[in-house]
Amino acid sequence: MIPYSRQSIDQSDIDAVVETLKGDFLTGGQKVSDFEKALARYLGVKHVCVMNSATSALHVAYQIIGLQKDDEVITTPLTFAATSNTAIQCGAKPIFCDIRFDGNIDERKIEALITPRTKVISPVDFGGNPLNITAIQALCNKHKLFLIEDASHALGSQNDGIKVGNIADMTIFSFHAIKPITTFEGGAIATNNDTFYEQAKLLRSHGIVKKELWNSDMVMLGENYRLSDVACALGLSQLKRLDSFIDKRNKIAHYYDERFVNNPFFTTIPIPKNKKSTYHLYPILLDRSLWCSKEEIFKALHAKGLGVQVHYKPVYQFSYYKKLLGDIRLPNTEDFYKAELSIPCHQGMNMDDAIFVADTLLGTLSSLKGCKL
Ligand SMILES: *Cc1c(COP(=O)(O)O)cnc(C)c1O
Repeated sequence: MIPYSRQSIDQSDIDAVVETLKGDFLTGGQKVSDFEKALARYLGVKHVCVMNSATSALHVAYQIIGLQKDDEVITTPLTFAATSNTAIQCGAKPIFCDIRFDGNIDERKIEALITPRTKVISPVDFGGNPLNITAIQALCNKHKLFLIEDASHALGSQNDGIKVGNIADMTIFSFHAIKPITTFEGGAIATNNDTFYEQAKLLRSHGIVKKELWNSDMVMLGENYRLSDVACALGLSQLKRLDSFIDKRNKIAHYYDERFVNNPFFTTIPIPKNKKSTYHLYPILLDRSLWCSKEEIFKALHAKGLGVQVHYKPVYQFSYYKKLLGDIRLPNTEDFYKAELSIPCHQGMNMDDAIFVADTLLGTLSSLKGCKL
């Protein structure tokens, strides 16, 4: 089975982990700040604070802006649940905004959702395709809102040559196993704001500051969201390989783009010329006539060794969210969910694999019974 995405671990990664595993500090040592500095340099931002997951990083970011009961967070329903779960954990209410047909939040629909209770906008760079972040930033400035960007898919994505992570108040990255790079589990906040950075470090580690000798003080209620030195050693090694991962994914994606042009079964999502995507996902959008056969297509592709996946079931369709917010239906999000399949695209594939994926996909769709195309 060729999965839709997969980590790549080579000998340099293994050596880095083993060396740190044999060292004096498994956690709380130098590798943590080394990894943070390397990430900050890579992104071109002032500060990075790493944590044990992107979920933790989101939770901390919401705490830093003082998100609380009765506040509203405008976000996308086409994401992993953690983007809005962590806001709910702070007592806030998620307000879901419909998407564009590229999977990103429709920034033209945000302003109508802003109320006196709105505190923050939290969009996601879907699949690594960079958001129109300057338009969203302008809205935030106009209405005095915070901008927390969930860039869990987008470490290394660029807008006009600038890496994702430079515009929002805080940008969140994930190092879960199949995200652009991995630290097993892990995440980070990138920010140019000194105060946000200092608070992130405090909240990551119980809100405790060291004073003199044995004396310490606890100045705020924090968590243990720290990332270990062993994980950071892997992160440092993976970060050196990131650009080669992104190049590989782009090569496969460009092959798919050309191969799938004008096919009768589905469309793809072109990345605008001024943007660069990590291609964490390569989504295809099935023609409306095939939506009712999606289960059959999914099963047939899995049977042939294509580990396709669907991203995402809209968050508001989860039973927990229905209980919380009632029935919500956003038309583009509904259609996108019916149409979307993520096909294999990752650095562990070679071009023969990509050709196999394309052949198998097109072959399966053409042989579909009851397909009236
Ligand atoms: C993976 C993911 C998360 C959560 O990341 P973890 O590191 O697993 O906590 C949050 N948001 C999005 C969009 C994701 O894809």
